[in-house]
Amino acid sequence: FRKTQPSSQELIAGILLGNISALSRAITLVESTNANHLAKANEVINACLPHANKSVRIGITGVPGVGKSTFIEAFGKYLTGLGKKVAVLAVDPSSTISHGSILGDKTRMEELVKDENAYIRPSASGETLGGVARKTRETITLCEAAGFDTILIETVGVGQSETAVHSMVDFFLLLKIPGAGDELQGIKRGIMEMADAIVINKADGDNVKKANLAKVEFNRALHLFPAKKSGWTPTTSTCSAITHEGIPEVWGSIKKFIKLTKENNYFFEKRKEQNQYWMLETINEQLKTNFYNHPEIKKLLESTKKAVQNDEISPFAAAQLLLEKYFKK
Ligand code: GDP
Repeated sequence: FRKTQPSSQELIAGILLGNISALSRAITLVESTNANHLAKANEVINACLPHANKSVRIGITGVPGVGKSTFIEAFGKYLTGLGKKVAVLAVDPSSTISHGSILGDKTRMEELVKDENAYIRPSASGETLGGVARKTRETITLCEAAGFDTILIETVGVGQSETAVHSMVDFFLLLKIPGAGDELQGIKRGIMEMADAIVINKADGDNVKKANLAKVEFNRALHLFPAKKSGWTPTTSTCSAITHEGIPEVWGSIKKFIKLTKENNYFFEKRKEQNQYWMLETINEQLKTNFYNHPEIKKLLESTKKAVQNDEISPFAAAQLLLEKYFKK
């Protein structure tokens, strides 16, 4: 254990050798809000970029209790069994409020956490979903440069976070459980539309029949959506994260998807689009944060809000005024 911080060059060299402690330190830099750390993080990420990209990125969503952790433990172990190196990341904006992530919880991935070919990193915390998601996006690059070829990104399927995760993965998997309607499972139509696969978990014991029925139903529902740009027809299947039945089939589906989308080039085009998306997202995010944190704007905002409420100035004119003030600062 060293007291001094490793230099960017040491971190880069360590990451490229697959050194986990270098990887963890670099991720901590990425997650830091300190401006000096940010510059160092950017240097490390840029150096890692040419070594990233050779992976499959899989998003996994589903409401709490559906079995995400249990599934990732089983699926992750299956993948390391195939010789893959698996990184598990999470996007959980609630972690800031609850001071601890409910995702990427290592205690619920007992076997995977001991696996030397797996790396589990809980969700970053941050003030905004955009901030949390950006950190995870950059963490993907670092993990890939460290040799992880399969990246699993977990998120809760109840808010905006799955849209963010969808924008950083190649394949999006929606976990469900049998016997509960969509409303009960809190799944919005938009999330189903994003899914490349719907996997009905807990298909074991008394649940098997219900799970098979659910599969047929979801299959029918999926056919009502317009065809995907990827050329891929979303699949529905059942599995049990406890008995591991159906787990290999999930990987089978993903492999088919990757083959198809690499052949039709969608895989590469989508990643290019995603890179561009994250650049623009970051600009939006930073502009907003800087604007609202600017001392003069902060002061003016309160009085201007009141003036707008009382019809003393139009909302648009007021916005214009503040923006002009900010950009001429
Ligand atoms: P998460 O909140 O989505 O991460 O769900 P967890 O992985 O914590 O699982 C919630 C509960 O469902 C736990 O008690 C698990 O043991 C149980 N569970 C998860 N997967 C299965 C499964 O395939 N079959 C059965 N019978 N129970 C499961």
